[in-house]
Amino acid sequence: MQVDILDHLPAGLLEHPAHHLARHLNGPTLIHLPGRRPEPLFVSVIQHGNEISGWDAVRRLLAGRYGRDPLPRSLALFIGNVEAAAERKRRLDGQPDMNRCWPGSHDAATPWHAELARITEHIRRLKPFASIDIHNNTGENPHYSAVNAIEPERLNLASRFSRTVIFFTEPAGVQSMAFGKFCPAVTLECGQPGKRGGTDHAMAYLENVLNMDGLSQRYPNPEDLDLFQVTTTVQVDSDCSFSFGESDAELVLDAHIDRLNFTEVPPGTAMARHNRADRSLLVAIDTDGHDCTRDWFRIEDGRVVLRRPAMPAMLSTHAEVVRQDCLCYLMERMRIRRPAPYADRHVELPEARP
Ligand SMILES: [Zn+2]
Repeated sequence: MQVDILDHLPAGLLEHPAHHLARHLNGPTLIHLPGRRPEPLFVSVIQHGNEISGWDAVRRLLAGRYGRDPLPRSLALFIGNVEAAAERKRRLDGQPDMNRCWPGSHDAATPWHAELARITEHIRRLKPFASIDIHNNTGENPHYSAVNAIEPERLNLASRFSRTVIFFTEPAGVQSMAFGKFCPAVTLECGQPGKRGGTDHAMAYLENVLNMDGLSQRYPNPEDLDLFQVTTTVQVDSDCSFSFGESDAELVLDAHIDRLNFTEVPPGTAMARHNRADRSLLVAIDTDGHDCTRDWFRIEDGRVVLRRPAMPAMLSTHAEVVRQDCLCYLMERMRIRRPAPYADRHVELPEARP
């Protein structure tokens, strides 16, 4: 794998949908476009080949107003996995996941790791203004932004896209974590690919950020964002029978449990009907890989009941996904204290687990 670096947009490139890009580019490509302010905005699209909102947003932005007017700020546009995009897949069989191959990855070094490390160093030297990596996801999820560190500039950048901001530190090797070492970096999740709303939202946001002079170094006001941390993965016990919707399985989940995605759920909420007495069939694992089921669930009258408030994400009702991966992630609310003068780096972290 090699990333081409260009100093212009290939003629006609903006006319092509994501699945045609492989006909016009050799592979992953970084394109530098000059603007009035020299420190570039780095924008990454199609790291996952079927997540096309970012490319569609960039196409419309550059073909529209900035087809006539100069860019207010230089743009470094990274177009990722065009081979997978041609097949409308996240990645091809045999390819690594591109967004796990940036510096900081725990995986074995591949040619992709080396090449993306080269690109990271190339951009670092240009002193980028900020970095925005654009994705889509499956299921009914709102648009949201994500950060890998709790810092004022990142939170200000993130909260301009969405009120909901997610803080995560796993998995390693993601682009935003690598670039976050030298500039404010965010990831955007623009809902399901191919929906106009996700493209519109990403385009308006990019235009907004391109026109910014700078980012405030003060924390946003606590009332201006909802900050959540992914703390827990919920799995279904591998030895039990389970179903979505009524059955005589040992664990019976609601057929529409994915409606709880991005909803704050209070303690006492029943997560499933539970027909086993010996142990909990929902298993909670913390970010260190430790079993924390007892912190999260208790069995009450044949139901699994939540012990503490949480916001589920990525809840799936596909039994195969649940078996192979997990039922969902649980996020917990983080609070930023209103900054006191001279002491605005204090952040209140979630309470320690009992
Ligand atoms: Zn993605």
